[in-house]
Amino acid sequence: MACDVLYEDDNHRNLLLPAYEEGNMVPANQHLIVHAGVGMILDPGGHKVYNRVLSETMSQIGGGKLALIFLSHQDPDIVAALNGWLMTTDAVAYASRLWVRFIPHFGLDRLVTDRLKPIPDEGMTLDLNGVGLKILPAHFLHSCGNLHVYDPISKILYSGDLGASLGGERKVEDFDAHVGKMLGFHQRYMASNVAMRAWARMVRTLDIDIIAPQHGAYFQGKDMVSRFIDWVENLQCGVDLIGESFKVPA
Ligand code: FE
Repeated sequence: MACDVLYEDDNHRNLLLPAYEEGNMVPANQHLIVHAGVGMILDPGGHKVYNRVLSETMSQIGGGKLALIFLSHQDPDIVAALNGWLMTTDAVAYASRLWVRFIPHFGLDRLVTDRLKPIPDEGMTLDLNGVGLKILPAHFLHSCGNLHVYDPISKILYSGDLGASLGGERKVEDFDAHVGKMLGFHQRYMASNVAMRAWARMVRTLDIDIIAPQHGAYFQGKDMVSRFIDWVENLQCGVDLIGESFKVPA
């Protein structure tokens, strides 16, 4: 399958790499931002997809270079193959400060450990060859150290596991029909409506054309984007739903 081009101008491209599926693995999206020949890969994934994602990334960058690896959180479908990426490129990887001493348990060679950098809780701006990418706090959605990326050129918000769905389509066409494909995952994985509301309040200050999650279909257009933000803001999830449900198994 070919890459989906989410945005393109003379200098800047945002690509959604084809979802590689293997056995029982949850299908995951890999996103690539290329600005004037310099690239950032988002959530590059694990060992089974490593070779294909790396070669697709390098062929899309062409003669340029991969400068940045962004890790939205610590899950294996995001970080497991980080060592390979650091060993085969000169890129610098960024993850929440909460995870920089846990990710090395996936196996990071001493040679490359210095190229995994911490992102502070309040987020930061990462420079991609002159573009200031906004790294946004999205903690507890779902990981306690969780970050999203907003690209001010393409106006794409990369939302990691928030907005994730299973179902095979690449783009959401009917929001109401799509809710059923997101609901169970968000109720169980997202930590709390408090975090959901904080996120909604923050992202409403941005001019967003696309919300692109790490699993499943993306949301395109102002109407779809605002419907998704409203849905997030009003969803009860995680600890909101625990009640008295913990019981010792019989
Ligand atoms: Fe995750």
